[in-house]
Amino acid sequence: MSNTGIDYATKSWNIVHGCDPVSEGCQRCWAKGMAARLRGRAGYPVENNGFAVTIRPDRLLEPLGWKEPERVAVGFMGDLFHPKVPREFIFRVLDIAVQAHLERGHMFLFLAKRVRRMRHLVTAYVEGGHVCGAGPFCREQHGGKGCPLPEGLLFGCSVENQFFTWRILELLRVPGRLWVSIEPMLSPVYLRKIGGDRFGWGRVDALAGLRYVRANAMEHGCEWETESVRRLSHVALGCESGPGARYMDEDWVRKVRDDCVETGVPFYYKQRRENGRVVHLPELDGRVWDQLPDLAGVPACAG
Ligand code: SF4
Ligand SMILES: [Zn+2]
Repeated sequence: MSNTGIDYATKSWNIVHGCDPVSEGCQRCWAKGMAARLRGRAGYPVENNGFAVTIRPDRLLEPLGWKEPERVAVGFMGDLFHPKVPREFIFRVLDIAVQAHLERGHMFLFLAKRVRRMRHLVTAYVEGGHVCGAGPFCREQHGGKGCPLPEGLLFGCSVENQFFTWRILELLRVPGRLWVSIEPMLSPVYLRKIGGDRFGWGRVDALAGLRYVRANAMEHGCEWETESVRRLSHVALGCESGPGARYMDEDWVRKVRDDCVETGVPFYYKQRRENGRVVHLPELDGRVWDQLPDLAGVPACAG
């Protein structure tokens, strides 16, 4: 258990707080309640009951001061990719995350619901040669693509039900390592069956990294042709918490866990409710599921 309240992170880097709801998962936003308590204090604004979008340049350098390698939750008190957060600020956050990862070995977990903006800005950052800072020269050296982000930066989206798995389709186009947080889980989520038509054409398996592109009729049934797409490196999952929290069925959890085990993707079961209380890191089928993404094979920026 960390000191962040987010079990899989050891530090919170609250460089932005405040947000506006975008979907069902926002209904009992945990960050909103927290902002209301801090309203008018500690840098939290009075507007919007403390939840007006606020950037915190004063906190930018924090990760460079943490001496031990940490797993850092980035901007979980809001959405870093909210349209009110300027692009220049987001680029600065990425600069510091890259530097702090290379110097200190921290892992950064970015999490957003505005995945489209995340995709646009992270792509612009990488393709602009900002990872190594060489700009147009870097682009030139890497066929217009720029140095890749180090694997210590993970970009994720929240998904509360199958409908919002379209966010994962956007996420798979973010040029970095990827993860998904299914929290609060409000109904079943099938990470191996995203999008596509009702026959399965175009469907994406985000855990195996496959898209089903064509079905060839065989004597018995049909055989799918697939193409590779990017895949998730981590899945975290938890129920809603707080008064009036909505129901989560453990069979939904089991399905996600089974899919992750089958494909070798680290799975983290963060919390469930038992007799009205939230239990952190509960056991599921005889064990705790606290698998985390590894940092094996982190490529250094080629410069
Ligand atoms: S996107 Fe996240 S931070 Fe923003 S309102 Fe929804 S749950 Fe809260
Ligand atoms: Zn470069």
